[in-house]
Amino acid sequence: SLEVIGLDMAYGPLQVLHDVTLTIPAGTVTCIIGPSGSGKSTLLRCLNRLVEPAGGDIRLDGESVLPWKPDRLRRRVGMVFQQFNLFPDHTALGNVALALRKVQGKSGGDARTLAQRQLAEVGLAERADHRPSNLSGGQQQRVAIARALALQPEIMLFDEATSALDPELVKGVLTLMSELGQRGMTMVVVTHEMNFARSVASQVVFMDEGRIVETGPPDQIFGRPNSERLKRFLSEVL
Ligand code: ATP
Ligand code: MG
Repeated sequence: SLEVIGLDMAYGPLQVLHDVTLTIPAGTVTCIIGPSGSGKSTLLRCLNRLVEPAGGDIRLDGESVLPWKPDRLRRRVGMVFQQFNLFPDHTALGNVALALRKVQGKSGGDARTLAQRQLAEVGLAERADHRPSNLSGGQQQRVAIARALALQPEIMLFDEATSALDPELVKGVLTLMSELGQRGMTMVVVTHEMNFARSVASQVVFMDEGRIVETGPPDQIFGRPNSERLKRFLSEVL
């Protein structure tokens, strides 16, 4: 499991996470919801060590990851962003293969074989030779997911992975994410897709102003919210 304990984080003088404590059991899907600026992306970035917390701890299977080099953690925790961050001059296959070579030191031939297999798993076998500019947004995001999955992470972090997509492309990516969850991938998903959170999440975390306000199973968070802040948020987004 991944444990976040009393996490604080500041950008300069601006404290954006306050005493965040959360347990993410292996094999579960945790959805993080909350208003813009509430610290959702910052929390995910802390979990992948893209930013350093000011205090508190992050533990993977009981061991603090903060003394580790960030790359050691990133071999076990993959991340997918709203903007796909693909290399424009590489094909879909090239993007996945490059990660396998750089991160895992695979040879070119091995990397391409594994990359082709991973692209087939996300339904893109026929698109392997296309560059990002010749793929739809949904296909580009599936390449980004394939690239992260090819490295065989134990945990996947998704930061609004469907927010940049045209509406008709959202469903395919959400379906892929929900299948991943059903297959037992441990996932932390920041999302505005309340139907996804309601149907896929094991637990839902509501954040506001850098704090976790409420955590619970989806039927509690959406059906029986305790706090006024969550009730107000749901009335605005549902
Ligand atoms: P959104 O739903 O809009 O993506 P969020 O919940 O992901 O919002 P964060 O991006 O984590 O929110 O931002 C939390 C706070 O930190 C906000 O007040 C934001 O303005 C601030 N912030 C985010 N990134 C930086 C940065 N690089 N430097 C300074 N402040 C930042
Ligand atoms: Mg964000």
